[in-house]
Formats: sequence, C-alpha cells, structure tokens
Amino acid sequence: MPRIPKGRRRPWVAKVKRKASEYGNADTSFYQQKAWRTLRLMIIQNEPICRECEVVAAQMVDHITPISQGGAKLDPENLQPLCHSCHNRKRARERWDKSKE
Ligand SMILES: [Zn+2]
Repeated sequence: MPRIPKGRRRPWVAKVKRKASEYGNADTSFYQQKAWRTLRLMIIQNEPICRECEVVAAQMVDHITPISQGGAKLDPENLQPLCHSCHNRKRARERWDKSKE
C-alpha cells in the first residue's frame, strides 16, 4: 500500500483558503469573535425560523446589508436568521449585483 507523505494528505486545504479570500474585504476573523457568536446565538434563539422562506430552521445569521457594503457588523437591525439555502441564494444574488457594478 503506498504511503501518502504527511504534508500532502489534505491538498484541498490550500484551495479552501484561497476561496475564502474571494469574499473580498470581509474580515473573516470577525466571525470568530465572541461578541458576534453571542449575538448570532441570540438572533437565532429569538427567531429560530428562516426569515426568507419561513419554513426551514435558521442555521445562520446574515447581514442584511453586507459588511463589505458598509453594513453594521453587530447591529441586530442589520441581522436576520436564514437557512443555508436562502443564505446561499442571497450571497449569489449579492455577488451577481456586485459583478454588474
Ligand atoms: Zn430559508
């Protein structure tokens, strides 16, 4: 059985990192902050169902106005609970809008 050299076992790691930088100016370390995680939890506890489709349980908290467009990071008014598919749809829409600018 051929042995895979240690450093090469996860060649996709570098790829994933590159992809994260595609999100532009968004400060990804922000999402690691305790303040954000606490607020995020509060939003989901407060409104456990996705605001967009109103069917699926919310799994994420979305910035209504994206941070990259000057949206407030920690303002509950700028946050909404979304399920994965609604969030992905919104992101795709935002990226599309951005590409037209
Ligand atoms: Zn949804």
